[in-house]
Amino acid sequence: MICTEMRERLEIKNFQYHSSESSILSDKWHGKPYYSLNAYLKNTYGKRIKKISINGGFTCPNRDGTLDTRGCIFCSAGGSGDFAIPWTSMPGAGNAAPHFFDTSQQTCIPMKPESSIVHSVDKLDKVKKAKQNTDETIDPYIAYFQAYTCTYAPVPYLNRLYRHALDNPAVMGISIATRPDCLPEDVLSLLSRLKENYPGKFIWVELGLQTIHEQTARYIRRGYPSGCFSHGVKQLHQQNIPVIAHVILGLPGENKDMMLQTIDYINSLPVAGIKLQLLHVLKGTDLAKNYHTGEFSVLSMDDYLTILIACICRLSPDIVIHRLTGDGPKELLIAPLWSRDKKRVLNGLHKRMELENAYQGKNYKIQKGTISHEPRTPNPI
Ligand code: SF4
Repeated sequence: MICTEMRERLEIKNFQYHSSESSILSDKWHGKPYYSLNAYLKNTYGKRIKKISINGGFTCPNRDGTLDTRGCIFCSAGGSGDFAIPWTSMPGAGNAAPHFFDTSQQTCIPMKPESSIVHSVDKLDKVKKAKQNTDETIDPYIAYFQAYTCTYAPVPYLNRLYRHALDNPAVMGISIATRPDCLPEDVLSLLSRLKENYPGKFIWVELGLQTIHEQTARYIRRGYPSGCFSHGVKQLHQQNIPVIAHVILGLPGENKDMMLQTIDYINSLPVAGIKLQLLHVLKGTDLAKNYHTGEFSVLSMDDYLTILIACICRLSPDIVIHRLTGDGPKELLIAPLWSRDKKRVLNGLHKRMELENAYQGKNYKIQKGTISHEPRTPNPI
């Protein structure tokens, strides 16, 4: 049951919610106690839209030696995009030869079949089936450039890649995962041009923050200060590009209060969406080495749900929640193993939120000095 207090909170900043309590639940959040991505997509486009993860052949400054060669401490060899398919396998992509951008050679070179990062047989089957059909019969989808840092290449390469996706009639829009220190002027100008050239499609940018605590950021080898994140958010917002922030819950050395401080920081910025990701320990990472030496322990499911609910309650009610758990590939996952059963986690979350009368924004506080921003998701098409 949504209380009057929440309605008042929703109305504080003219978030464009309906005014009656029941309509907030039934129309806006579709019965969930938070504003999910599915609810946002249904509200905006009238239906759920699948996301297909794409490997655009990128690398990352944290891996190619520019900042580091080891990557973030938790990052798998697949560049946090282990389910991503090569970009030329996108449904409706035609017969373009797969290429990737080689930073050492600063050029595009053909992608070897064995370098394609494909772990999901299911997904490939779907892609194959879709390719046998005409474009008209392919379900619309979001092309999600996920693996590595998907703005980290020369602009002509990015231009070709993004247009390849946006030209595809089955693609409703693109979502680009990147780092805030990889948004130079020419990349921002490209995104702005693409927005103009494809007025019927959307462009989202997913920016890694993980935490606002600099000590943790150093431990995970993030490679940029939190101020760089806020700068990136503001630049993208100025261009009317919705930003989705990535946050990791359960990082070594962080307690619940510290994680809530990260949520407060997100609330204070013009961020349109958030991914709340449980820390996964994956095989082959330095985090796994530290885990095996007993340097830290992972969260139990119960503890995770307690923290997650606190974060959802603290989150501004107009921020769309894109993720509540995580997608660690089963064959790489070391811990926590309970996270493999996503359905159980989500059922547990919904049950506890109902019991605790918890809902997004319940404990949201408008911070002093908060930037004025409205709306967070600019001009949905
Ligand atoms: S920035 Fe992303 S791709 Fe690069 S090392 Fe970190 S998690 Fe991996």
